[in-house]
Amino acid sequence: LQTDWSRDAILDKRDKYFAATQRAFVPYETPLVIKEGKGQYVWDEDGNRLIDLLGMNLCISVGHAHPAVTAAVKDQVDRLTHCTTMFHHPVPAHFAEELAATMPAGEDWVVHFTNSGTEAIDLAIMLARSATGNSDMLALRNSYHGATYGAQGVTGVRNFRHNIGQLSNISFVAEPNQYRGIFGPGTEPYLEEIDRTIAYTTSGALAGMIIEPVQGYGGIVIAPDGYLKGAFERVRAAGGLCIVDEVQSGFGKTGDAMWGFERHGVVPDIVVMAKGIGNGIPLGAVVMKRAVAESMREKFLFHTYGANPVACAAGRAVLQVIKDENLIENARTVGAALMEHLKSLKQRYEVIGDVRGRGFMMAIELVKDRQTREPAPEATAKVFEATRDNGLVMSKSGNFKNILRMVPPLCLSMDDVEPVAEALDRSFSGVAAQ
Ligand code: PMP
Repeated sequence: LQTDWSRDAILDKRDKYFAATQRAFVPYETPLVIKEGKGQYVWDEDGNRLIDLLGMNLCISVGHAHPAVTAAVKDQVDRLTHCTTMFHHPVPAHFAEELAATMPAGEDWVVHFTNSGTEAIDLAIMLARSATGNSDMLALRNSYHGATYGAQGVTGVRNFRHNIGQLSNISFVAEPNQYRGIFGPGTEPYLEEIDRTIAYTTSGALAGMIIEPVQGYGGIVIAPDGYLKGAFERVRAAGGLCIVDEVQSGFGKTGDAMWGFERHGVVPDIVVMAKGIGNGIPLGAVVMKRAVAESMREKFLFHTYGANPVACAAGRAVLQVIKDENLIENARTVGAALMEHLKSLKQRYEVIGDVRGRGFMMAIELVKDRQTREPAPEATAKVFEATRDNGLVMSKSGNFKNILRMVPPLCLSMDDVEPVAEALDRSFSGVAAQ
């Protein structure tokens, strides 16, 4: 089979043959063609090297073409690519055990493998409703959870909510956004909002609440101390289960621990994961307390590709590499070094209203005016375009399209910090000079 690598041919075919639904999400004015990746770097079709500060949308967790992951995948492809859960295979069984072992001790954790984060979120919603016998759920504004009816139904960002009728019995509460949240900074007002929402917009009996410990697409909105604990108490008092969406914040990205919820000292009932789990191989999982899964055991829930041995072989290798290469610590220290540069950028460029981050989850929020905090989407688009010309890959995100988001692979190193800071500086100075 011949493959034409020219950008024009790719764009032409994409315009002709990709459905409008799939080609709409193109971030750059001149789309970027990615030809190869190694570690924290990618190369475009002209051979230019870029620093991948997004891990290809957070999927590349331990680095592009990591030899251990590649070897595990190749080995499994050579032996057996698939067998479905109708038959048995040791690789998914081992991976389930290893994933369960990453959860807080003292609970009996079980795993259901899916093919994507969306599917895992959908399943989590069904499980919460089934296990509790309740329908009402809480979700956060400014959240992103996926694309199906279920996952879109709990997504609190307008750009992703289509006008097609949505899942019922979902109430949205204000996200505890410390920069532009409707109640200002703090934790308590956002917890009171949960109380009010349960009291006024639900039956009073909850199936659960779904929370990203760090909102990803929403623009790295970090749940403040005490928020998860307070939310969990309230949800449980109303009979609901506590679901954390670790699709972005999981696998060490926050630099604190394997999971974003851990630093809050809480134990969820259901943990949803995907993206970084397979270093780019499609895979998702719901990890939950045993009793939650038991509630749906009477009928089948069969995902043909769920627990695929190739995907699970990648997953096993990812967990091993994170441990062997001490990558959570790396995200903490390198992320902290990069954050110092982001703070100094903020001092120099008036358009930067806020910089924030935890480990390798980082954001720069652009505003027209630091007092009013009015979002600056036009300036963001220009800086974003410039970052690519200066050799960086990142994302432009948030409901107001005014946030630059960076979540690099866990292997980004201290040697990358200066080049990234300089490239960011050039990107902002070019736009400021216009
Ligand atoms: N949850 C979060 C927090 C996500 O960021 C995403 C994907 N961006 C999803 C769920 C859905 O995952 P997927 O795209 O694999 O279906």
